[in-house]
Amino acid sequence: MSTVNLSTITKQFGNVTAVRDLDLLIEEGEFFTFLGPSGCGKTTTLRMIAGFYYPTHGKVKFNNKDMTTVPPEKRNTGMVFQNYALFPHMTVFENVAFGLRVRKISKAETRKRVEDVLKKVRLESYIQRQVSQLSGGQQQRVALARALVIEPDILLLDEPLSNLDARLRDEMRTEILRLQREYGITTIYVTHDQVEALTMSDRIAVFKDGKCQQMGTPTDIYNEPVNDFVAEFIGETNLSPVTLDKKQEEVFVFNSDSLKSPIRVRNSKQNIATYHEDDELMISIRPEAIQVSDEELTELHNVWTGEVSLVQFTGASVHTFIKINEEITLRATGLNQGPSTYFAEGATVSVHMPEDQIRVIPRARE
Ligand code: ADP
Ligand code: MG
Repeated sequence: MSTVNLSTITKQFGNVTAVRDLDLLIEEGEFFTFLGPSGCGKTTTLRMIAGFYYPTHGKVKFNNKDMTTVPPEKRNTGMVFQNYALFPHMTVFENVAFGLRVRKISKAETRKRVEDVLKKVRLESYIQRQVSQLSGGQQQRVALARALVIEPDILLLDEPLSNLDARLRDEMRTEILRLQREYGITTIYVTHDQVEALTMSDRIAVFKDGKCQQMGTPTDIYNEPVNDFVAEFIGETNLSPVTLDKKQEEVFVFNSDSLKSPIRVRNSKQNIATYHEDDELMISIRPEAIQVSDEELTELHNVWTGEVSLVQFTGASVHTFIKINEEITLRATGLNQGPSTYFAEGATVSVHMPEDQIRVIPRARE
């Protein structure tokens, strides 16, 4: 087990800055996820930790030991690649044993360690099977076993589930978490899938254009996104540009060109007091926080009237899209409470945004 400490690392490829001034401390035994869209620098960061790339600036440390330019084979990290990178014409045994052969481990011990790890990933009966004759999910388990068998200090996984179908992906998520907890191994997981990040991680770093935008627990990042990029990338949200109007006792009032009437926001755990009238701000409200009613709700603040433009049934939940005007359609999500509670498309409804559920955030910088 090991901590991983990146201090202001930058990686340039010619004119492209793939990673910029990244600071990060990953704790022992932590499941840490790099999340972000394609091309934002996740793989490059992982490769600097594995030693396949050296940073242009900055330092990589494991347990406070400088590893910045230590070659990959001397770092004791186990890596699982997106395309598995297995040897297709070798058997499961030969693939998993590969890293132990390189380390000159005895035949008897190699046999025992390979058998043990294959039990852990539930592939013990496939030990002599050729890898090309395995399913995608089984190949994924071989790749995991191969990374784990060397007893790495750090496990690095680069989009390991993206080639699997949805159901298998779900199953493998649980499987990877189980193994990570069993081994107690410091794990860094790369994904562009927000559901994977939210369900698996102790902490997440959200990347955009080589910059870390926010780091925190899944609940922190979902409930308190720092800018519009994070709010939109993690989960669904309703975003709309606003400007600060005034403070009125405990409540801040914002103006919106699209929503027309003022929006009241209660300042709980937010930085609103530091905003100015000329800041470019957005309100963000999660669909599950929006209340929809076929009554008028005259006694409440932050109520708009709109027309139901679409009702999407997903099984467990129901999404209702409400067109407020030409510029803005809001999305509200509720648990499925049975057919009598679904709104009809075309119906006129009231939409309530509770003032303590609205988050006001700046736009992400380019
Ligand atoms: P991600 O894994 O988040 O999709 P990458 O880390 O692979 O992103 O890439 C980040 C940026 O760096 C991209 O713009 C990519 O084109 C560029 N890049 C990555 N690897 C190389 C390389 N070996 N040479 C040149 N540019 C690269
Ligand atoms: Mg990548």
